[in-house]
Amino acid sequence: MSRLAVTRALRATILSRPQLPRTPSFRNRAPPLPFLANYTRRNLSTTARRLKDDDLDERKWSTPLAKQLAEAITATGPVPLASFMRMCLTGDVGGYYTGAIGKSEQNRDQFGAAGDFVTSPEISQVFGELCGLWYVTEWLAQGRPSKGVELIEVGPGRGTLMDDMLRTIQNFPEMAKSIDAVYLVEASPQLRIAQKNLLCGEDAAMSESKVGYHSHCKYGDIPIVWTETIKSIPYDPEKTPFIMAHEFFDALPIHAFQLVEIPPAPSSPSPPGGGESSPIATITTSGPKQHKQPHRKSTSTDGSTPGPTLEWRELLVSPTPPFSTHASLRTPASQNPHLTPPPDFQLTLSPSPTRHSLHLPDLSPRYRAIKTAAASSSQKPLPDGSSARGAGALVEISPDTYLFAADFATRIGGSPAHPKPSPRGAALVLDYGPGDGSVPVNSLRGIRKHHFVSPFAEPGLTDLSADVDFSAIAEAAVNASEGVEVHGPVEQGWLLEGMGGRERVESLVRARLASRPEGEEKERFVRDLKKSWERLVDRGPNGMGRIYKALAIVPENDGRRRPVGFGGDVVM
Ligand code: SAH
Repeated sequence: MSRLAVTRALRATILSRPQLPRTPSFRNRAPPLPFLANYTRRNLSTTARRLKDDDLDERKWSTPLAKQLAEAITATGPVPLASFMRMCLTGDVGGYYTGAIGKSEQNRDQFGAAGDFVTSPEISQVFGELCGLWYVTEWLAQGRPSKGVELIEVGPGRGTLMDDMLRTIQNFPEMAKSIDAVYLVEASPQLRIAQKNLLCGEDAAMSESKVGYHSHCKYGDIPIVWTETIKSIPYDPEKTPFIMAHEFFDALPIHAFQLVEIPPAPSSPSPPGGGESSPIATITTSGPKQHKQPHRKSTSTDGSTPGPTLEWRELLVSPTPPFSTHASLRTPASQNPHLTPPPDFQLTLSPSPTRHSLHLPDLSPRYRAIKTAAASSSQKPLPDGSSARGAGALVEISPDTYLFAADFATRIGGSPAHPKPSPRGAALVLDYGPGDGSVPVNSLRGIRKHHFVSPFAEPGLTDLSADVDFSAIAEAAVNASEGVEVHGPVEQGWLLEGMGGRERVESLVRARLASRPEGEEKERFVRDLKKSWERLVDRGPNGMGRIYKALAIVPENDGRRRPVGFGGDVVM
């Protein structure tokens, strides 16, 4: 198949779906920078509040989930940010993706003008069509397998992206025939139904099995299987999995840690309840502040006085004081205080190590390097007598990100536990986060009706999202499987332009302008097509083409073949 044939097939596909009108006020889920700066300052506190039962009953919580969370915190103490996020997004009691919105707000969903945010596939069909084409180029490059292809999407939303991909792939009948099944990993029962309606038709039946839910796709009657976890999809070394993750990783829970300075161990016995577990740093508007309590002296064997050491401490979620207001909590203007009641919760710094703070920051050399660099930075004593050895550094770590990335890599490249005779398949991850290898910090945000709000306001009704650590995905993938290599991250604009998207949009516009009838509808179609494309590839400071990144996991080939959009060309 020639490159021209690929282009023609795509063009035919693009013409087949009418362009939807787009509201210019939509905002994607990427943060404006001032929000990041304010977030740390305002939502951190070192005084973790323990609730009394009276507080629980008397206090008016903003949502049923807020009350449930407060009860859990009363029983166990402040909870890791990851537990809070998990309950808020996919928990059984009114999580954001598991029922809260539909119940309280007349069945509106998360997407589009009436929802909270808009994503690239919802902005323009061209996005999904180019993604579909990307898998076609991988299928071509991997020897056009005639069977055993699986399309797997994690977090498919309304199903729009998969629909656009499948429609594109129909233009390549050989590949379409090679697809054994489509797997959709979806936590939301409501979105699962929306996906079934779009991909299979409203009247199509859905059956349930031990694995998940089953129906058949309107394109070629391909079986579609919905699972709640990726682990429920069988590993089969004979299969060629093509995996898509668009705006999925940003919804995975994160843990947050801060480096704090631990005074030297006392030479005399610790006072009761004191010692290492007493609070040692306070977050203020100007950053972490060391306590003035005198450091206890201890003498090492060579007679010198050892300095304080640095330790990771976890940021935990605890309730705000009763009767808090946005003013008392100093909710920053960038979190649109007028849109939500005052936050029910806030971040607190754990005064002692937690299971996660001892283990997770040790997981990667990247986190260890931050600690080492902090420890070797300025050794000069501060005016109050303490030393500034880089305390205050923050990291966000998402264990689920490691699990998903390792799973993708294992399916493509095999692993000792799941040997695969020859690596095949590919994964494409599109999301936002730093593309320079840095570890995300302070990136958790709440999103409500296209605005940023406090992530701790109205749990369950507020979307939560954090920057994706692409380097962690790459690291997890290559550690999990020797059979894969990773390309990127590259900017979304680069990927889409590199795939020839602009030429396709331009030729589409030409074709449409030459067509009849003349009229307003035609003009609107052309205008919307151009505008939505420009939005996807906009490389301005906050443009989607810049802040969204793409990363590819493909079979290991010693870097000889780069995927299309990542510097490579179509290989036949
Ligand atoms: N990819 C879609 C939707 C992004 S929103 C798009 O770009 O339009 C995030 C999606 O991930 C939703 O479908 C949500 O229900 C799903 N999701 C979030 N957390 C999940 C989890 N832990 N497991 C499975 N699905 C999850």
